[in-house]
Amino acid sequence: MSGATPVPFLDLAAVHLDLRDDLDVAWKEVLAHGRFINGPEVAAFEAEFAAHCEAAHCVGVANGTDALELILAALEIGPGDEVIVPANTFVATVEAVCTVGARPRFVDVRPDTLLVDPDAVAAAITSHTAAIMAVHLYGQMADVDALGKLAAQHGVAVIEDAAQAHGARYQDRRPGGWGTAAAFSFYPGKNLGALGDGGAVVSDDAQLIDRIRQLADHGRSATDRFVHEISGRNSRLDTLQAAALRVKLARLDRMNENRAALVERYRRGLPSWCVPVAVDPAAQPVYHLAVVQVPDRPTVTSALDAAGIGWGLHYPVPCHRQPPFAEYADGPLPVVDAAAERILSLPLFPGMAPEQIDLVCEVLHDVPI
Ligand SMILES: *Cc1c(COP(=O)(O)O)cnc(C)c1O
Repeated sequence: MSGATPVPFLDLAAVHLDLRDDLDVAWKEVLAHGRFINGPEVAAFEAEFAAHCEAAHCVGVANGTDALELILAALEIGPGDEVIVPANTFVATVEAVCTVGARPRFVDVRPDTLLVDPDAVAAAITSHTAAIMAVHLYGQMADVDALGKLAAQHGVAVIEDAAQAHGARYQDRRPGGWGTAAAFSFYPGKNLGALGDGGAVVSDDAQLIDRIRQLADHGRSATDRFVHEISGRNSRLDTLQAAALRVKLARLDRMNENRAALVERYRRGLPSWCVPVAVDPAAQPVYHLAVVQVPDRPTVTSALDAAGIGWGLHYPVPCHRQPPFAEYADGPLPVVDAAAERILSLPLFPGMAPEQIDLVCEVLHDVPI
């Protein structure tokens, strides 16, 4: 515990302390062979991450936003198409839809989990719908069972935004095993984070993965590297990041278990007015964030600030109210609007001391609510 901030919201330096020796070995290997792009660590990580997801294939890309966009592009979703997106998500989910030229259709979330509401999705499907974004927010998978059934009925794709859900399950399956494909981000703060930007697409569909691999590598032919079959782009996972991710993937399950234990401690210690987001009985979350709903949030955050306790908001301005996307708002979204005023993310990261959780709970108990 450092003196200045008794409980930081996230301490990434602390998370990496135990990994230094293994990371040093990993870099040195990359420096020795010098294949900084498409080096052997990339293919090794892709195979290991696919196995962790219990899916057939994985392709590394430059970041999670690109992963989403490349799935849409590979499915040839674009102008004239609609993609259904929960309004409670990080803006990247919406950006990917807009970048390929499709139209986002915002839908509301369930009041208990704050995840996409399948009934709202059903009501938003039109003849233009091409895909449904299943956003697995806060570490918990959305109701992919219901979304999958809807998608099958209407012949549309389910794209999983798993940027916050590495290792999560719904029933017996992980992201990538439910939808057409799952997009992952390895932004440093994510459950599996690189030491910089990174991302991946996971799917059982070999052709889709091949197409994304080609799009992400300048449209290069798989058999002749001098031939560019399509006009693609550059969105590759760096060898150095893949090497670091292999070190961290080996610890992911343990880190996720640690997150779950810390969240359990919050549940036992929080005052009753501080209500954690609900867990769907069919879901096994990996607790990317410890999100609670509180009354009178300004009073609560002032008390946390005064005690030197970090906090976050995910997300206080829902996507349909963000300036570039407001034009797509086409109806009231009362649940997400109400939640935006009440949500609060408490400090949570692997290796956090249990006493730090207890201190947050004590400070919250003293808030006059
Ligand atoms: C982090 C995140 C992304 C984007 O990932 P980047 O790697 O930062 O591009 C997309 N969706 C969600 C839900 C995220 O949390």
